[in-house]
Amino acid sequence: MQNDEVSSRDVDVVVVGAGFSGLYLAHRATQMGLSVQVLEAGSGVGGTWFWNTYPGARCDVESIDYSYSFSDELQQGWVWSERYAAQEEILAYLNHVADRFDLRRHIRFDTRVSTAEFDGSGWVVTTEQGDTVSATFCVMASGGLSAPKKPDIAGLDDFAGQSFHTARWPKEGVEFAGKRVAIIGTGSTGVQLVPMVAREADQVYVLQRTPNYVVPAGNRPLGEGELDTVKATYPERRQNARRTASGVPAAAKPGPGKDLSDAARREVYERMWAIGGAPAILRGFTDVMTDPGVNVFVADFAREKIAQTVRDPETAESLSQRDFPFGAKRLCLETDYFEAYNRPNVELVDLRKKPLERVTAGGFVAGGEEYAVDVILLAIGFDAISGAVTEIDVRGRDGVSLKDYWADGPKATLGLQVAGFPNLFLVNGPGSPAVLGNVVAFAEQHVEWITDCIGYLRDNGVGTIETTPESDETWADHVDEVGGQTLYVRAKSWYTGENVPGKPRRFLPYAGGLDRYRDRCDEIAAKGYDGFVLSREHDPAEAASG
Ligand code: NAP
Repeated sequence: MQNDEVSSRDVDVVVVGAGFSGLYLAHRATQMGLSVQVLEAGSGVGGTWFWNTYPGARCDVESIDYSYSFSDELQQGWVWSERYAAQEEILAYLNHVADRFDLRRHIRFDTRVSTAEFDGSGWVVTTEQGDTVSATFCVMASGGLSAPKKPDIAGLDDFAGQSFHTARWPKEGVEFAGKRVAIIGTGSTGVQLVPMVAREADQVYVLQRTPNYVVPAGNRPLGEGELDTVKATYPERRQNARRTASGVPAAAKPGPGKDLSDAARREVYERMWAIGGAPAILRGFTDVMTDPGVNVFVADFAREKIAQTVRDPETAESLSQRDFPFGAKRLCLETDYFEAYNRPNVELVDLRKKPLERVTAGGFVAGGEEYAVDVILLAIGFDAISGAVTEIDVRGRDGVSLKDYWADGPKATLGLQVAGFPNLFLVNGPGSPAVLGNVVAFAEQHVEWITDCIGYLRDNGVGTIETTPESDETWADHVDEVGGQTLYVRAKSWYTGENVPGKPRRFLPYAGGLDRYRDRCDEIAAKGYDGFVLSREHDPAEAASG
């Protein structure tokens, strides 16, 4: 029976998602002679960069690093125009990759996966469009920040105007001229969106619940010859990046700030502010994230910059974060964000002083005051890391649902595999370090590990690979423990699931860094997937019970 099942598979690997990870997976797996079917909900490739077309959408990792390293021809041939690429440019790059490596023939677009079920030896995946694909392996490359958080805002359904999540931006664009707009949320998305909408709309209300640390992006066009210099040393640069915690090459080593005078610290930080970007500002001193005094210095410096830029002192104070340490949440990078509050058509609604009561047909009520608006933009974030997987009804051995298995909090060994779900792989799953650094560098590592693993199983006549509940628990505890030693646990954020009402609290990303994580993954693979359970193909016991 199992023999027939195996031979009747549509493909070797079914992949959910055609973003950075899914595209590379399709490329690498087909290079290994495997057949692949990628199912993509969008009508084009790109994942995050397909969906997030809101004005101002831009990466906050430098383009020269936020790109594939697997092909030297690709990295030598592509020309990035800015330090941080805008959404359009990244999407163009991913389309170029899809064409260059002839990947579209493996992708079915406009196809949203609804169920994925283990049938005893492989996976049967069904889609909302009515397709069924059966495969020996299933890879969820569905994105760590791709499931929009469901709005938890009273009255939103009563709103008569236009309203949508920023990750579901209408493809035809939105006309803001002559409109009054509410933007809910001041995370990385809101910070990028506010200045762009403010240029067009009649009136913008920015609804802020928690102020974030927001620092200059330092975006600029890449200067003449700058890209050529990078390209000349790309192999070393990429090698260097692979051995870092963040997947971004280490810059010149700064010194500690602990023993410096205030004036000396300032001199360094004025320079860091002028350079811009998270690496410079988080690592202007080696001890920003470990020495409380240095951390307070940088936090004060950030607040001073706001006070110097935003003319209204009350607004400046509302925009200043004082409840958690600098860097405890992912920094937001800005271009013209604070300046936007000096415009006559922009008003900050501080929800800590004026709680958001409800949305009405014509606007919203906050602190007892009614505001009339025509458009409500929800920059409210994502059901991160696990949300895109649990949106699908995933069922493993004996029909066990992944949602049920994760009822106490998402867990997966190395963030890659889950007990009871043989031959299912997650990219950027719970316990993966990906979202804490350069996601593309992590995606390459994950995809290479997964495809190498599939190659090993094929070459060694192994039918299934899976983890054990103990191993999932041990990794999740380790992730929690490492996370608990960082400042990240000092702020409520999507790292712990606390941004989504009802989601079990657990620190989800592995904060040990890419280098340590890579070593651990490689060590396990080198020992024949130590700790994983490998069952040989056509196992007679399984076949009898199946
Ligand atoms: P986010 O960081 O989770 O921010 C969501 C915002 O919405 C927060 O200000 C949150 O307030 C607010 N919010 C949520 N529910 C609310 C409610 N019911 N009422 C009022 N306010 C509410 O989401 P994001 O800005 O989309 O960013 C998520 C992640 O995506 C980033 O951390 C980053 O990793 C990635 N990203 C990157 C870029 C880039 O590369 N530049 C751009 C966008 C996103 P509270 O804080 O009070 O919950």
